[in-house]
Amino acid sequence: MATYHSTRAREHAAGAREAVRRGLAPDGGLFVSDELGSKKLDVATLADKSYTDLAREVMGLLLPDYTAEEIAACVDEAYGGTFAADEVTPVRELGSGLGASGDTPSYVLELFHGPTSAFKDVALQMLPRLMARTGDAASAEGERIMIVTATSGDTGKAALAGFADAPGCAITVFYPEGKVSRVQELQMSTQEGANVAVCGVRGNFDDAQSAVKRIFADTALAERLRASGTVLSSANSINVGRLVPQVVYYFAAYAQLLRAGAVEAGDEVEFCVPTGNFGDILAGYYAREMGLPVARLLVASDKNNVLFDFLETGTYNRLRPFYTTTSPSMDILVSSNLERMLYYLSGGDCELVAALMASLAEDGSYTVPADMLARIRAVFGGSWADEDEVAAAIRDCWERFGYVIDPHTACGYHVLSELPAAKGVRARVLLSTASPYKFPRAVASALDLEVPKDDFACMETLAAATGTTPPAQLAELADKPVRHTDVAEIDELGRYVEQAAARLA
Ligand SMILES: *Cc1c(COP(=O)(O)O)cnc(C)c1O
Repeated sequence: MATYHSTRAREHAAGAREAVRRGLAPDGGLFVSDELGSKKLDVATLADKSYTDLAREVMGLLLPDYTAEEIAACVDEAYGGTFAADEVTPVRELGSGLGASGDTPSYVLELFHGPTSAFKDVALQMLPRLMARTGDAASAEGERIMIVTATSGDTGKAALAGFADAPGCAITVFYPEGKVSRVQELQMSTQEGANVAVCGVRGNFDDAQSAVKRIFADTALAERLRASGTVLSSANSINVGRLVPQVVYYFAAYAQLLRAGAVEAGDEVEFCVPTGNFGDILAGYYAREMGLPVARLLVASDKNNVLFDFLETGTYNRLRPFYTTTSPSMDILVSSNLERMLYYLSGGDCELVAALMASLAEDGSYTVPADMLARIRAVFGGSWADEDEVAAAIRDCWERFGYVIDPHTACGYHVLSELPAAKGVRARVLLSTASPYKFPRAVASALDLEVPKDDFACMETLAAATGTTPPAQLAELADKPVRHTDVAEIDELGRYVEQAAARLA
């Protein structure tokens, strides 16, 4: 069943399974479905539904060629017991008085209770289960999937945790050496599993991401790998198998607000989303198309504010300075998932999307037509925080609400404090994308605490000062043996993948 096709051409049609298995369309576009929004969830019934109920329903609609039994099995494996919270993604009330939010109450949607303490677990606990159910014919012939991923910090560990020892799969993760936090680096370098390779790259995240895209476009490499029984696939947020599970928590948040009496069915809410690759917030757009009453989606960026400039001017320009910030998972200049938003808000104009992407590749920038920008701005607003504002936000949230946030979440907090709520909005929900204990030094420093050189000592300082507890899987990293020490130059990554495929087969 062909429900998906490339953002750049309708010819490249694929069923949901094939879209999950391949990751990227053959022409370099992203898989999209024109059925998005044709079926909606009934908002009036959300309050009665658990996270897993919602996951089955939402994923069933978006991945129609998986059977209901398969989806149910994936949901149970991914969320039955892997998250340290009954709600999977619990909502906490902050209250009113957050800067420009005024009387409109703010809530935090905690997405970080999974095995690696960042929101990417929600999707990456699911993707391997979906992928394992794509390849009956292929795996009968002994074909093996090699996941190749570039990470700005959190994807890598969450992908490793999801794919370690997954049947029929191996995984290679590249991260920018020296540009992720100490905790993030240890999370990856201590990863266990017989099918994993982890490698530092001399360059920044965008360099690594571009190199990985070249690997996927390298037909000679693909040919050689196929001859030895390996096909490449992606775990980056461009894979529909990652996007779709993220749609669920927008509904789950609303269901919790209904149960708490914070909204009545149909009341409009706003979501503020710390975003880099535009994956997390795009999932919110999908939820809105599927009937969730969302007034606006607020894009929150760090100092790498390419998305803010795009929303202001209609011009996306990646030729700009790259800043390394305390929110490394949002230090991104090329926001891959934006391409899907361009597809939908151009009214499904593949030719236009292809032309914009060609312009981005060749000239480093593109400009969308004025009417399209107006449509985008009717749904998406946003702002950004510089490093001082991130620190001030962490401090303000602690002093005002007694709640500790990480630097990524702090970008969103800053945006909520700066932009007033749209008219009629009953609640504002800030997506919290990482545990503050993943970035203990930045958080301790923002709270004016003493900042020990060692991340783990710093976790203890933070715990003592705030009365919170570090997630066990982070605290115990200090004692785990380092298993991966590879480092490669940017132009060696293709060869590295080939060697890893041979070594792990
Ligand atoms: C990946 C990540 C983000 C950005 O998510 P996108 O899918 O790129 O929008 C924000 N915060 C944290 C902690 C992340 O790991």
